[in-house]
Amino acid sequence: MSAELIEGGPVAQKIKDEAVKGIEELGRAPKLIGVLASDNPGAKYYAGSQQKACAEVGIDYELHELDPDASQADLETHIQGINDDESVDGVILLMPVPEGVNPRQVQQAMRPHKDVEGVHPANIGRLFYGDFALAPCTAHAVVAMLDEAGVDLKGKETVVVGHSEIVGKPTVIMLLRSLMESPTVTCCHIATRELAAHTKRAEVLIVAAGKAGLVSGDMIREGAVVIDVGINRVRVEEDGKKKTKIVGDVEFDAAREKASMITPVPGGVGLVTTAMLLRNTVECARRHG
Ligand code: NAD
Repeated sequence: MSAELIEGGPVAQKIKDEAVKGIEELGRAPKLIGVLASDNPGAKYYAGSQQKACAEVGIDYELHELDPDASQADLETHIQGINDDESVDGVILLMPVPEGVNPRQVQQAMRPHKDVEGVHPANIGRLFYGDFALAPCTAHAVVAMLDEAGVDLKGKETVVVGHSEIVGKPTVIMLLRSLMESPTVTCCHIATRELAAHTKRAEVLIVAAGKAGLVSGDMIREGAVVIDVGINRVRVEEDGKKKTKIVGDVEFDAAREKASMITPVPGGVGLVTTAMLLRNTVECARRHG
């Protein structure tokens, strides 16, 4: 069997089209601020790609660069200024933050209606009630990809590998959205004994651990739907040359032989996550009025 690909591109495009429509209805360009207190080149690159994605749908993106030695108080004061700025609809705190700064506390200083990443406790709490209006982008992307692929989740043995606050845990909660039609969800993590025993019985397998090759082909159930969230940079040798390659957490080629559907990396969940950020920004602007 060679699994059907669940590509991120078409799902992302649909979400972006809805964002464009939302902006038209709003009648103005939403304004999103990225707050960066780091000279990490990866973070700057990420901010650049956010800006590009925003421009595509008509969102104004502004990067606020703070000192890489900024303190907790500096960051929270800056966020407070953004909260009070009527011209701003949304804010993102870019990682990494300076040493000694607690990012969660900075995110909690955001006004929930400006929290485009869906990381404020008020927005996370709403997931319990099935309210995904400002949900964490990656978890929402996973659920959207399953929905768009037409996967019937009712009662399915579904295993989520990873229990981080931004991906694994919210995914588990979001999968349990329906009273009568939810899957049966197991969450595996670093302390899980015999990971393979869980993954092998998964009809739907979602992997978000950040470990290249964590899930090999023999850990996948025949016919499973596999969503690979992982993004890992690995060094490989191709045509006698060493290269850096982006791979997921699942051994793609082997997994594709076993699964019925699988997301690629790159080109899968990542694209939809970015689109969700745009969607959430429009939602923040709508609430802002
Ligand atoms: P994290 O480091 O915060 O959490 C990793 C999780 O994996 C933890 O819950 C940990 O318990 C679990 N884990 C680690 N090793 C394990 C093992 N051997 N067995 C079982 N569980 C194990 O990472 P995160 O922020 O949740 O991100 C996870 C991955 O998803 C990373 O590769 C990250 O780059 C990627 N990511 C992708 C997107 C996207 O849009 N595609 C967005 C966010 C994160």
